[in-house]
Amino acid sequence: MANNEESRGLKSLFDWFANRRKSGSTSLERQEREIADGLWHKCSKCGVLAYTKDLKANQMVCVECGHHNRVDSDERIRQLIDNNTWKPLDEHLRPTDPLEFRDRKLYSDRLRETQDKIGLIDAVRTGLGQINSLPIALGVMDFRFMGGSMGSVVGERLTRMIEQATQRRYPVVIICTSGGARMQEGMLSLMQMAKISAALQRHKDARLLYIPVLTNPTTGGVTASFAMLGDIILAEPKATIGFAGRRVIEQTLREKLPENFQTAEDLLQHGFVDDIVPRTQLKNTLTQLIALHQPVLTTPHMVLWETMSLTSTAAE
Ligand SMILES: [Zn+2]
Repeated sequence: MANNEESRGLKSLFDWFANRRKSGSTSLERQEREIADGLWHKCSKCGVLAYTKDLKANQMVCVECGHHNRVDSDERIRQLIDNNTWKPLDEHLRPTDPLEFRDRKLYSDRLRETQDKIGLIDAVRTGLGQINSLPIALGVMDFRFMGGSMGSVVGERLTRMIEQATQRRYPVVIICTSGGARMQEGMLSLMQMAKISAALQRHKDARLLYIPVLTNPTTGGVTASFAMLGDIILAEPKATIGFAGRRVIEQTLREKLPENFQTAEDLLQHGFVDDIVPRTQLKNTLTQLIALHQPVLTTPHMVLWETMSLTSTAAE
C-alpha cells in the first residue's frame, strides 16, 4: 500500500517535471518566434525583452540600459525631419562596377543582392527638409548597405547635397555610420574623401554651419574626412569611433588597448568630439544649435546697415 502511494507520488512528480519542461520549451519557442516576427526585441546589451512598438517609440533606445540600437536611414529621417517636409535628392544616382571587382563574389552581384534585400540603391540618403520648422540639408548613412561603406555614389550624393546647401544657405547635418571607404571601388572611393571635404570647405567659406553626428560605428575613410570636419561634432553614447580597427592597432603596437579606446566618451575627453547626445534628445539639440547659428543677414539691424551702406555708395 505504502509502495503504491510512493510510486504514485513519484509518477506525479515526473509528470510535473515533464509538463514543466514541455510548457517551458513552448513558451521559449513562442518567445523566439515572436522575436523573429519582430513583435519583441531582445536588447543585445542587457538582454531585456521590449515590445518593439515601445522601443520604436523610444527611438530604438533600450529603456532598461540606454543601449542605442542601430537604426536604418528610414527611421532616422522619421526621427529628425518634420512630417511631410522631406525632399530626397539625387535618388537616380546608381553605383557601377568600374573595376569589375571580384572578391568572394562579383561586386556587381553583391550590389544587386544588397539593393534587392534592403530596397536602397546605395549606402547614403540625402535630402532637404525641416527640423522643427528650420530648413536643413540632411545626409543619413545606412549601415545595412555594405557596412555603410563610402563608394562613388555616397561621395557624389553628399557632395551634391552640400553644394545645394551652400547655394540655399542651409546648414548641413550628416548622420555618419560607416566601415570606411568601399574597397571594391578602389581609388574611386578614396577620392570621395577629398571631394566631400572640398564641398564642405566651400560651405564653410560661405559661413554656414555643418554638424556631423557620429553613430555606432564611424570608422575608416569617413572618420578621416567629413565626420571630423564639423563646426560642432556630436556623437551618440558609447559609439565606436576610430580610423583603423582595434585589432589592427593592437597587433601593430603589440600592446593591449584600454577598454574605452575608440568610444565616443574617450573621444570627448580628448577633444575630438564636442558633445555626446542621447538619440532621444538629438532632434531638439540640433534644432537649438541650428537656431543659434542662423545666418544673421536678415535681421533688421543688418538690413538697415546694408541699406545705409548702399545709400552711401550711391551718394558717392
Ligand atoms: Zn538594454
